[in-house]
Amino acid sequence: MRKEFLPYNLPDLDWEEEEALVQTLRSHWISRGPLTEQFETALSQELGVPQVLALSSCTAGMHLALLARGIGPGDEVITTPMTFAASVNVIIHAGATPVLVDVEEDTGNIDLTQVEEAITDKTKAILPVHYAGHSVDMEHLNRLRDRYRLIIVEDAAHAIASSYQGRRVGSFGNITSFSFYANKNLTTGEGGAMVVPDPDLAERIRILSLHGMSRHAWNRYSEKGSWAYSIEAPGFKYNMTDLQAALGLVQLQKLGRMQARREQIARRYTQELSDLPVIVPTTREYAKHAWHLYPVRLQSEFLTISRDDFIQRLKEHNIGTSVHFIPIHFHPYYQEHYGFRPGQFPHAEQFFHQEVSLPLYPSMTDADIHDVIQSVRAIILSHLV
Ligand SMILES: *Cc1c(COP(=O)(O)O)cnc(C)c1O
Repeated sequence: MRKEFLPYNLPDLDWEEEEALVQTLRSHWISRGPLTEQFETALSQELGVPQVLALSSCTAGMHLALLARGIGPGDEVITTPMTFAASVNVIIHAGATPVLVDVEEDTGNIDLTQVEEAITDKTKAILPVHYAGHSVDMEHLNRLRDRYRLIIVEDAAHAIASSYQGRRVGSFGNITSFSFYANKNLTTGEGGAMVVPDPDLAERIRILSLHGMSRHAWNRYSEKGSWAYSIEAPGFKYNMTDLQAALGLVQLQKLGRMQARREQIARRYTQELSDLPVIVPTTREYAKHAWHLYPVRLQSEFLTISRDDFIQRLKEHNIGTSVHFIPIHFHPYYQEHYGFRPGQFPHAEQFFHQEVSLPLYPSMTDADIHDVIQSVRAIILSHLV
């Protein structure tokens, strides 16, 4: 058994990020500025889209997207119960009503067949999540979008490196919001970025993200800027800073390398755990997985150990894990305000009750991977029915 605790997640930070931060500090331009613009350009090239907006978080992006598309009171937005609270909170912040639809049994992504059945006259938007980094079926999603004239806001918090049929998530004509939070595949500490295909809408969102000030007002303290600005809307404080962008530019350079390591780790887990009574993640033929998470599910009918005890035993083996996610309809606020109840979304509930996310991040060593595999095997094999 390993001596030191293996955290469930660690950001991949190195001397390159340190140097970039120090250089940025020495430039004395630390809030939104030239590096944020550079980062936006680099990201748009990476994703193969004309334009990207860098923001303070994925949540901020989704919030602004719903507001800028005029979604508000009386409107319904369909999303998944298998997500983090942010996906639902932004719908509520916009004043709209969240409608939940169950997930697919294998991918954990929202079930688009059931989405179609949930569409009403009030439905304005769908907010799908690319769970764990496995793309939703974009062709199916966009068919629903076009047939019912719906707005799509993709929660791509896990999907900065995901593809669907060879094209990157974010390049399918929908507003797509990425997260660069500390534990995500690419990090800026806190941060996010959004693809907005319509340039006029993008401009409106950019203005909303910085107090509602007219374009380029961030530049007003520089040599080229002017003191004048005008407020065009009561905006928000949702901009990215150059300190974050400095990190992002380095992380973007390393993204290919980091993804290659994630893939290696996921492949080894799948090879070495598939003979156990656990369900390892499936990848549908259309998806290139970003391996933000490696969610295994315990097949409880073959085991004498519960999911919670399994997590506890792994912790005793000095292995950290997590659970993704406590379904939205299990949380008291959403139950009290929207009448959600356990039992409503059986696939999401079964997924949650069986699920454990194993450690998966680029700086894990081969010995770390070995330790995870050995501990999982030992605990499972000593608890067979
Ligand atoms: C992390 C996460 C978010 C929130 O991202 P922030 O950048 O922290 O706002 C939203 N949705 C999902 C599914 C996430 O995992």
